[in-house]
Amino acid sequence: MKGYGGRLLFVDCTTGSFHIEPLAAATARAFLGGNGLAARLLYDLVPAGVDAFDPANAVVFAVGPVTDTTVPGNSRACAVSKSPLTGLFFDSTFGGRFPATLKRTGFDAVVLTGRAPAPSYVAVDEQGAVLKPAAAVWGRSTRDAVTALVAAEGADADAVAIGPAGERGVRFAAMAHYWRNREAVAGRGGLGAVLGSKNVKALVVRGGRKTEVADPAALKALLDETREPLTKGTQALTTFGTPFLVGPINALGALGSYNLRSEVFAAARVIGGESMKEHYHDRDTTCLKCPVACGKQYAIRDGEFAGTRAKMPEYESIFALGPMLGIAEPEALIVANDLCDLQGLDTISMGVTLAFVCEALERGWLSPAEVGVPFGWGNWRGMLRLVEMTARREGFGDRLAEGAWRLAESIHPEATRLVYAVKRLELPAHSARALKGLSIGYATGTRGGSHHDTRPTPQYAPAFDRRSTQDKPAFAARSQHFTAVGDSLVMCRFPAER
Ligand code: SF4
Repeated sequence: MKGYGGRLLFVDCTTGSFHIEPLAAATARAFLGGNGLAARLLYDLVPAGVDAFDPANAVVFAVGPVTDTTVPGNSRACAVSKSPLTGLFFDSTFGGRFPATLKRTGFDAVVLTGRAPAPSYVAVDEQGAVLKPAAAVWGRSTRDAVTALVAAEGADADAVAIGPAGERGVRFAAMAHYWRNREAVAGRGGLGAVLGSKNVKALVVRGGRKTEVADPAALKALLDETREPLTKGTQALTTFGTPFLVGPINALGALGSYNLRSEVFAAARVIGGESMKEHYHDRDTTCLKCPVACGKQYAIRDGEFAGTRAKMPEYESIFALGPMLGIAEPEALIVANDLCDLQGLDTISMGVTLAFVCEALERGWLSPAEVGVPFGWGNWRGMLRLVEMTARREGFGDRLAEGAWRLAESIHPEATRLVYAVKRLELPAHSARALKGLSIGYATGTRGGSHHDTRPTPQYAPAFDRRSTQDKPAFAARSQHFTAVGDSLVMCRFPAER
């Protein structure tokens, strides 16, 4: 079957055994791959009503027919599971080189179930899987773990790992993959915590199989046709990365700040793409074979954090750790973003949960003594400390680790009204008030508060009627169909939308 590895790998982490099944052509036609295929596997395998941390829950890593071809943005994979944050089906995609390497193993999906008896990692090659001891990397950051495991398995291997947050069951724990200077994070929904509940620190893949394209000439013609609009449409991403959005979205009155009490942030300019590039840009980074190269590495040259080299905070992370907390210190944002990635925390959920804490403190629903460290609007030192405490579930961090919704439920009968979340998933940086297509989109998306079901991008186009509710249900449905196909192929959203 062209476009596919044609095999599915099922690993029982309790026993370390595995089995391989063929991917039926009818299944591939019906679900494409990636998200769609993983949803089917999860539906078939995971008993209804099971807790996300139950060994019977599964974590599926899946790629699609487009992965490891010449399509721009093809090196993308889905991590899929039942989320400990929402209690619902959840998928989170990531790039780098890992997705192409997973495809080269000849498996379209790797399914992990059970719970390893001791900290382990799963090494997958073309023959199958081996569960190996991970005691040496348990407790270490995502980057340290990936670096050590790739050193152990060989430079042609790729790894995606959880950090201390995933090991401790933080409900919004992420997983991260590092390749050259590219850092790719499957951030949302707490899937890193599900991996941690299985005692699995990382998935490591290595393979050499090639993906055959059914009609290379037709694919080339299609790509030739879309090359120019792609280059033009992604210029700002290539130049600045996603932080270029800060200025225009703030100008629209749609940049959430102070736990969304406002949608304008006075200091937006200093944390926007242009200013960040001018002061901190070190180098561009890219996922495998992607012409857009939207990734940037930053370097802090002076001051308290001099010597820091870290991934550029994406627009969403700037919003959640910056304006939502009233923080306008770009260097604190770079450090906080890096800390979240290393500890394996979703930046959006972390920031929005802390924004709720700021407002709860102000209302007297939480006391400073309960929080345990000086914190409030604009206090970036408190933010950094609370991020660390969350990853370790230390002190008040143990309550933050439950996410904004559960924290609110525990402190005051009315507190959930102040939580910026849908289906218990903290919302991203695209305002449902400003973009009416997203209000219906967040309410109906499978994941709830995610901007990767109904998409914000088309709604920022000058000709799009953002403020009226007219036709927005139809728009949201179309947009969700578009992302379902894109996530099943699996393709990066940025090139796919141009
Ligand atoms: S556009 Fe950016 S995130 Fe998407 S594949 Fe290219 S480099 Fe990766």
